[in-house]
Amino acid sequence: MGGLIEALHRLQDVELQLARLRGEEEAKARRIKTHTRQLRKIEDRIHEAEVNIHERQRQIDLATLDAATKEQAVAKHREALSKAKTNKEYAAILLALNTEKADSAKIESHVLELMERNQALMKGKEQTEEERAQILDRIASIKQELEAYRGETQAERERLETKREECADSIPPSALSKFNRVAERHEGEGMVPVARIHPKREEYACSGCNMTVTLEVVSSLKTGEELQSCKVCGRLLYIEDEPAKLR
Ligand SMILES: [Zn+2]
Repeated sequence: MGGLIEALHRLQDVELQLARLRGEEEAKARRIKTHTRQLRKIEDRIHEAEVNIHERQRQIDLATLDAATKEQAVAKHREALSKAKTNKEYAAILLALNTEKADSAKIESHVLELMERNQALMKGKEQTEEERAQILDRIASIKQELEAYRGETQAERERLETKREECADSIPPSALSKFNRVAERHEGEGMVPVARIHPKREEYACSGCNMTVTLEVVSSLKTGEELQSCKVCGRLLYIEDEPAKLR
């Protein structure tokens, strides 16, 4: 039993180192994911701005056409004015002309307003595009970091993986699969020492999750009959020469 615990210790040592390498990698991958989510939002904003700008431009085109029509009407009325035969006719044409002129001025100022609004929209879109460029840069640089990290640690990872296989060879399959299952859940920590939680009383806890370990389990561990695991977190338990402390 002591031999098995020692073999598990060696395996755990390797697992913890592998988990550290994996953890670094996962942290970088998570950062890429977060930035990519932000990128999607920025792209949505750009798309929305494009739709708005397009719609505003359509309104500008329509209003400009409308203004041209009014201008033509004004020109026609001017011509008619010069040909008016009576004062009454002249006054009527003048009234119509002035109305068209006022309408035309209104449309022109509306066009100007629309153009101003569209310029603001375009400026906003440009800023958002800058944001997009920045975030794309950031994603590219984290990807580079991740690649570099993978490259730098590859040899170490391969060494550890080989060592893991060597360590696993000396462990019976049932104990190994138990350990592996738990180690996967707890970043490589498949085994923890039992902690004594009271100096005078025989009270023990799992130093992985701090939950109570029964005396029955502790005495079984002391006699080294069989592997025992924490009923709560599942980590395999062992007794240290110096009783372990809670974390
Ligand atoms: Zn536990």
